[in-house]
Amino acid sequence: MMAPMAARPLISIVTPFFNEGAGVLHFHQSLKNSIDDLTDFDFEIICIDDGSKDETLSRLIDSSKKDSRIIVLELSRNFGKEAAMSAGIDAAKGDCVIPIDADLQDPPALISIMVKEWQKGAEVVLAKRIDRSTDSFAKRKTAQLFYRLHNIVSNLQIPEDVGDFRLMDRVVVDALKKLPERQRFMKGLFAWVGFQTITVEYVRNARSTGKTKFSGWRLWNLAIEGITSFSLVPLKIWTYIGLFGSVFAIFYATYIIIRTWIFGIDLPGYASLLVVMLFFGSLQLMSLGIIGEYIGRIYFESKQRPIYLIKKQYQFKK
Ligand code: UDP
Ligand code: MG
Repeated sequence: MMAPMAARPLISIVTPFFNEGAGVLHFHQSLKNSIDDLTDFDFEIICIDDGSKDETLSRLIDSSKKDSRIIVLELSRNFGKEAAMSAGIDAAKGDCVIPIDADLQDPPALISIMVKEWQKGAEVVLAKRIDRSTDSFAKRKTAQLFYRLHNIVSNLQIPEDVGDFRLMDRVVVDALKKLPERQRFMKGLFAWVGFQTITVEYVRNARSTGKTKFSGWRLWNLAIEGITSFSLVPLKIWTYIGLFGSVFAIFYATYIIIRTWIFGIDLPGYASLLVVMLFFGSLQLMSLGIIGEYIGRIYFESKQRPIYLIKKQYQFKK
């Protein structure tokens, strides 16, 4: 159930910026075009500067001087999108919160549709991309592979083709803030909290300016983060591989013993021995590596460092 709301609900827009200088003006302009029609609501626009090296911060401050709804959070360095988004969500005071990318790949025009669904009672409104043709073929395929694999090995189902762009009611945001982990795979955390969810569809635009900040390597690490955050299957699977291997080894040993009884000893087999040794050696290294992934994460969690550091906050009253 939705709590009774004040006369004019406040909507928080949360946008992380990392080296998006060229796009700041354009983003605010098209965001304003979309939200100015929603006259029954108040807005706060939280822009997080995630340690940009270009003119992003100064442009954000310029924008905020012209629009008192814009709040700028300057992080002390680049913490990554997930952390920057957490900073924004933590700062948001709205009755609902909408994270949206700065590059206009998430169309602000969808906000009014999301808000309508929210007013009808949805606690989460997901934005699903029905057309990702603006993403490269490789990105679409690897993303699809990731979602499939994740949803097989994890009890938690992450909806396919849904990014961070969504609307969350205050109850959902408060639930999200109770999750204490430092390594924040937001898509997973969003899905983990649950709540009554509705999906709206949209066509994903190409980036308005600039380049993607997610290289193949960064995406790979994000994928590992996602899987290790919500599944123990990569850890457990070695028990079964080991079990299978040892059963096979017992049968094979029996076979060799019997063969030796009947036919006597023969010595060839150096090559096959080497192959088997190399194979199981690398299998063991791999399993150790996977254990390492988890231990590394335990190590980082145990340090209890903050997820992000805010250097300064800017907001200019009218
Ligand atoms: N971003 C960020 N910190 C980072 C990387 C990205 O705040 O370290 C922001 C970026 O400015 C953008 C959003 O995250 O607003 C999504 O990034 P991008 O468009 O590069 O990702 P893609 O759409 O290609 O997946
Ligand atoms: Mg993008």
